[in-house]
Amino acid sequence: MVQLQSHEVIVVGGGGAGLRAAIAAHEAGADTAIVTKLHPVRSHTGAAEGGINAALRDGDSWELHAKDTMKGSDFLADAPAIEVLAKDAPENVIELEHYGMPFSREEEGTVSQRPFGGLSFPRTTYAGAETGHHMLHTMYEQVVKRGIQVYDEFFVSRLAVTDEPDPTDRTCHGVVAIDVRRGDLWGFEATRGVILATGPAGQVYDHTTNAVTCTGDGQAMAYRAGVPLEDMEFVQFHPTTLPSTGVLISEGVRGEGGILYNAEGERFMFERGYATTDGELASRDVVSRAELTEINEGRGFEDEYVYLDMRHLGRERILDRLENILHLAEDFEGVDGLTEPMPVKPGQHYIMGGIETNEHGQTCIDGLYAAGECACVSVHGANRLGGNALPELIVFGRRAGLHAAGVDLGDPQIVTGRRGAVEDWDGTFETEIGAVDPEPAYTDSGVGTDVVEAAIDAEQTRIDELLDREGGVRHPEVRRTLQRAMTDHVNVFRELSGLQIALKEIRSAREAYQHVYVEDSGKTFNTDLIQAIETQNLLDVAETIVMGAIARTEFRGAHWRAGHQARDDDEWLKHTFVSWDDGAPSLWFKPVLLEGEKTYEPTIRSY
Ligand SMILES: Cc1cc2nc3c(=O)[nH]c(=O)nc-3n(C[C@H](O)[C@H](O)[C@H](O)COP(=O)(O)OP(=O)(O)OC[C@H]3O[C@@H](n4cnc5c(N)ncnc54)[C@H](O)[C@@H]3O)c2cc1C
Repeated sequence: MVQLQSHEVIVVGGGGAGLRAAIAAHEAGADTAIVTKLHPVRSHTGAAEGGINAALRDGDSWELHAKDTMKGSDFLADAPAIEVLAKDAPENVIELEHYGMPFSREEEGTVSQRPFGGLSFPRTTYAGAETGHHMLHTMYEQVVKRGIQVYDEFFVSRLAVTDEPDPTDRTCHGVVAIDVRRGDLWGFEATRGVILATGPAGQVYDHTTNAVTCTGDGQAMAYRAGVPLEDMEFVQFHPTTLPSTGVLISEGVRGEGGILYNAEGERFMFERGYATTDGELASRDVVSRAELTEINEGRGFEDEYVYLDMRHLGRERILDRLENILHLAEDFEGVDGLTEPMPVKPGQHYIMGGIETNEHGQTCIDGLYAAGECACVSVHGANRLGGNALPELIVFGRRAGLHAAGVDLGDPQIVTGRRGAVEDWDGTFETEIGAVDPEPAYTDSGVGTDVVEAAIDAEQTRIDELLDREGGVRHPEVRRTLQRAMTDHVNVFRELSGLQIALKEIRSAREAYQHVYVEDSGKTFNTDLIQAIETQNLLDVAETIVMGAIARTEFRGAHWRAGHQARDDDEWLKHTFVSWDDGAPSLWFKPVLLEGEKTYEPTIRSY
């Protein structure tokens, strides 16, 4: 049975960005609801360990935070976005503290801050090594206190968007969701705006710190509705993940003084000259490349990992600040971090790119917003600094919530969509790309509920096809092909030939997807159906990553390209966009904005 609900603001996702957006929209007076596939406190923000950056102390400033972030981004972030992040983070973190967030504290009672990679000041505020967990619970309490409606176990599978030929003329009127408990389709009309806060897409890789639920649903839905995905080739590989599972060992360990060494007992970050000033606390792309170079040149352990050692920090300090790390190392690797070094290797962790937005969270489609990891505003550019994602959630989640509720935030400086100084890519791909079976068009009637109902019909048709198909291919098979192709060929070190292979593999996975069938015909908790739909989302997202990686012939931040071993500011100070036009993706560029309140001159990036 189809249900239709109506609210002013619909927030898709109950993680850090979604909760903060909902609180803001509600406080601005909008009737707000959260629609989420997981219960909010099970969102992946709960996995965040190390901390949240904000310039809170004497000696630190928003200007320093902005400068570090721009340098970390390898000069591919937009200055207006970085400046909003750095300026708003202190007030927003203090607000979290006032909500009751249990930050770790110094003897005299002030909140503690630790050093993190790429920061010129110890500005990472934290709650033990469970910062994200506490953040989620703290904000969820505020959602409950305010009586904001939460529809949890609702899987949003389609946006209800009008179908004008130019995406910048389209309007988003709501979303369609599967009620996971009962299997029915629900329509959610949003009379003011839909905010996508659906989080990461790390499941495009098989060795990742991201949970199985991180399937890029928001990115894929926005992309199919006509919103460009920006800078998708920039994928962060975290240097310290446990080899057997991809579980993260927080940068907080190195922030507290943990050291990395190779099989020859060398503290290689210094001794092999990778980062002679900052050593283990160089930015993540630098440390990940260093580790893999050590392993590839035969100085790793078992040809697979290096060691991260925190024993010298002492039991008391470890238990006070890093207790969670002891549990992770013990539970997932059988190692006692108090008495043994921990094996670590790089693993996929974060995607810097995402749904293109401006500083208010607006996409190029009227009424559609995005915030958090699914979005690209862009503050991280070619490489995110540790501790900068959590402030992004609350700063830009809040702004999106306010704007969607009708609060005037002034004129944005970032222009979204195919407008302004657009340059088309003049290259070609060896493989055919794009949808084998594009989504049906959306109805354009101008009436919100009609658009939502048309989207429900289109979604019902897609689901019926998946459920009615008898025999064929199982979705885990398609997902495995995709994950292997991405892990093997679109990793820390990238070569054109490997990227072309990845594109071919994705194409064949897409074709196989045409024959995917769902074995479970039940309506209740049909995770088989949900995962089949998530797999299509992963395919769409992965393809944009590879397309961007092929087009960008330079080495910038996390994007290392064989044969192009230098950052090329003359040619490449520009963002990559992939948009789905007329059923096939196209690739184009817009210039990076290095002028905000300050001007950021690209300099050599060394640590
Ligand atoms: C292990 C780990 C540690 C990290 N540590 C740090 C750190 O210390 N500091 C830092 O700054 N950053 C850290 N990060 C990065 C940061 O935690 C994430 O970028 C951030 O938490 C993502 O938050 P989000 O709100 O965008 O997404 P999430 O918290 O993932 O929330 C997404 C929400 O969307 C919902 N959703 C998704 N798809 C759908 C759908 N189709 N329908 C309905 N709902 C949907 C989910 O249910 C969920 O509620 C870490 C990341 C990882 C993986």
